[in-house]
Amino acid sequence: MKEYLGNPKNTIEIIQKYEFMFQKKFGQNFLIDTHVLEKIINAAGVTKDDCVLEIGPGIGTMTQYLAENARQVVAVEIDRNLIPILGETLAAWDNVTIINEDILKVDIRELADRYNGGRPIKVVANLPYYITTPIIMGLFESGVPIDNITVMVQKEVADRMKEGPGSKDYGALSLAVQYYAKPEIVANVPPNCFIPRPNVGSAVIRLTRYTDPPVTVRDEKLMFKLIRASFNQRRKTLQNGLNNAPELPFSKEKVAAAIARMGLPASVRGEALTLSQFAELSDILGEP
Ligand code: SAM
Repeated sequence: MKEYLGNPKNTIEIIQKYEFMFQKKFGQNFLIDTHVLEKIINAAGVTKDDCVLEIGPGIGTMTQYLAENARQVVAVEIDRNLIPILGETLAAWDNVTIINEDILKVDIRELADRYNGGRPIKVVANLPYYITTPIIMGLFESGVPIDNITVMVQKEVADRMKEGPGSKDYGALSLAVQYYAKPEIVANVPPNCFIPRPNVGSAVIRLTRYTDPPVTVRDEKLMFKLIRASFNQRRKTLQNGLNNAPELPFSKEKVAAAIARMGLPASVRGEALTLSQFAELSDILGEP
């Protein structure tokens, strides 16, 4: 029989039955709201053709919904105390594989190959918030074939991912995400939709992977070095930010000339530049 977890009663029952202890260090906040679960699955557009990677299934609440809607679900969970629980809560579905591992150590490309023949997968998760950025950046930078990433994250982080120049939330994460994907906030989710309640607001964000990046740049790595250096020293001018970064080899004169060639004032700050301006700056500075 299929016993769904997406409500407080069944969730508490399972937690008590296994005497499960929540681990703060793993960012464990389990979803207990069916409307939110349905919104996430719908936003990801999960169909019976899809192979879905779930990061951190917890007790399997969202995994059940994914298994119902997808062809195949691969769920990676770090906490070994949750594995026997998942054995029970997912027993009614035969299209779920649980991997007891740290997602940051898993070869996700290999998983996509093994379970989806190298075709693009969907990533759906209520993420452990303490490692949101390394998870998202790892997924993009490692070249895993991805259709979209639809995830619950801390509200502030969702805002940072979608902002542009002029916003206080604009930064290196915004530019990195927007180079690889189109970000859209799908829902804002209050703390009372989780057990235990997190002490921050949450949001579901969908990142739809671009087939071709929205800007062309000769040296992607150099562009991201420039972006990181500019935002490391937010209050400094772009010129000073780039000159003070030990990983960048450019002379003061070369940086000043590049900024002038782009028609920007010498006092411009990095936070005023768009993604295409960072690409242009990278192309100019990278010229032999
Ligand atoms: N998906 C469940 C839900 O929505 O109710 C649980 C979400 S909870 C916010 C995050 C989950 O990620 C927890 O189950 C936690 O143990 C797991 N987790 C934390 N760090 C992890 C890591 N490095 N690798 C894999 N899973 C991790």
